[in-house]
Amino acid sequence: MTCFFCKGNMIESTTTFMVQLDNCIVIVKNVPCHKCDQCGEEAFSFEVSQRLEQIVDKCREALTEIAVVNYTAA
Ligand SMILES: [Zn+2]
Repeated sequence: MTCFFCKGNMIESTTTFMVQLDNCIVIVKNVPCHKCDQCGEEAFSFEVSQRLEQIVDKCREALTEIAVVNYTAA
């Protein structure tokens, strides 16, 4: 797998995904990703993006201001 931007090497890593909704911030820790060892660009697989969407949807209903979720435990 090569980087979309700089064609560098994408290595397996984990990252913290953060998204701001209308009145809530969702933080997901330990998200598996591929990270470019040159420019630091991070890419999620299709499965991971779908899972993140589900997690964010669930938090949207929870009505908390800040939701911190551990990806591996979600
Ligand atoms: Zn890159």
